[in-house]
Amino acid sequence: MIYEPDRRRVFLNRKSNILSLAGWTDILVNSVSQTERLRMDKTLRADFHVHTRFSMDSMSSLEDIIDRCEEVGVNCIAITDHNAFEGALKMQELAPFKVIPGEEVLTPNGEVIGYFLKEYIPSKQPMEKVIAAIKAQGGLVALPHPFDTFRGLHLDGKKLEDLVSQIDIIEVFNARSPIPWDSTRARDFAKKFGLPGTAGSDAHSPREIGKTYVEMPAFDGRDSFLAALRRGEIHRCRSSPFVHFYTMFSKMKKSL
Ligand SMILES: [Zn+2]
Ligand SMILES: [Zn+2]
Repeated sequence: MIYEPDRRRVFLNRKSNILSLAGWTDILVNSVSQTERLRMDKTLRADFHVHTRFSMDSMSSLEDIIDRCEEVGVNCIAITDHNAFEGALKMQELAPFKVIPGEEVLTPNGEVIGYFLKEYIPSKQPMEKVIAAIKAQGGLVALPHPFDTFRGLHLDGKKLEDLVSQIDIIEVFNARSPIPWDSTRARDFAKKFGLPGTAGSDAHSPREIGKTYVEMPAFDGRDSFLAALRRGEIHRCRSSPFVHFYTMFSKMKKSL
């Protein structure tokens, strides 16, 4: 059998700023038609990091998020509100597309995201406890922006490596992380430990949704999700640094 690299994917990488997850594991395909088949079934355009007005620093209504997703063709989102879970459940009822209920939980060591959650998880408890709480309800554990200079983990490398067996996913691109090499570190870490990567807009306003997404095959639930994610391709686009002013403004307005 003659194997050829997926040249179309390489071409797209150069032209469209697409970071192919498949490229990390150096997947080779044996014919162009197989390449086409691999691409054809990537029917989801997913954003794995979206905040709603139930977050303390976002004013995005569920309806505005849905409208924006429909406008830009995003048909799968994870709601990952800060230390809040109500918005995720409401969005699951309301949205006409796939919603993964999640929460971005603050711990003394940095933030952890639980995906496929059923219940709210309180913040400000040790990271190990949050991870255990996510697992206890059948969720998946993800580390958002783990090496972000401003919002990264506060763990020494050794402790992070000790925790890695309990982590399911690394967020390898966050549109609100301004420094490129922070994402490169996340990507290298995911690759080193064989973990699948997600990407997300980290949108706190609806207009941030749509430029960063993962194109991936459909999945039925938590169990088929990881396999589908491993075949995903990340389309990345960094948000303007001014989006952080919007977050500050939202926080101030909500605290009045
Ligand atoms: Zn965060
Ligand atoms: Zn976030």
